[in-house]
Amino acid sequence: MGTITIIKGDITLITADAIVNAANTTLLGGGGVDGAIHRAAGRELLEECRKLNGCETGEAKITQGYNLPARFVIHTPGPIWKGGTCNEEQLLKNCYYNSLCLAEQYGCETVAFPSISTGVYHFPLEKAASIALRTIQNYLKTSHTIKEVLMVCFSDQVREIYSEALLKQSMEK
Ligand code: ADP
Repeated sequence: MGTITIIKGDITLITADAIVNAANTTLLGGGGVDGAIHRAAGRELLEECRKLNGCETGEAKITQGYNLPARFVIHTPGPIWKGGTCNEEQLLKNCYYNSLCLAEQYGCETVAFPSISTGVYHFPLEKAASIALRTIQNYLKTSHTIKEVLMVCFSDQVREIYSEALLKQSMEK
């Protein structure tokens, strides 16, 4: 079974078959990790994204990685946190699940995720970490292609919360 590794870092520097972008539904770039990925990948990424006609929240679309060390970028718009009554948890789960499905379809063995929706979209971090890790773990049980999933945390605080959530999850079984 594939493994989950939690690291602190900048996802634009990660060498993986695919990195995941916490995009918005236009897929035309934005702030946070989305802006960083577009800056590092270059104009060609935006040009390819323009042809995709956006993406619904929780769905995922794939492009080349261009100037990034990663071969592919999987773009998934996370849910905006509105208090938890607008299906946010299911939509966040869909982001991870649909991104992994796409990675598998494209034969990716290593996939790196940022902490989707926990920046300007304000999804509560602990809840997001638990949903992310559980969805990835469940996916890895059945995947024959994906060998390693990296959770790339941008700060020590985020890394600690994901590490605690992973530990908690491993003790539940
Ligand atoms: P969202 O709109 O989905 O909330 P953000 O980009 O605002 O997306 O934030 C998602 C997470 O990505 C936050 O934890 C933020 O600190 C983190 N982040 C920002 N830049 C990077 C980067 N270069 N690499 C990895 N994570 C990043």
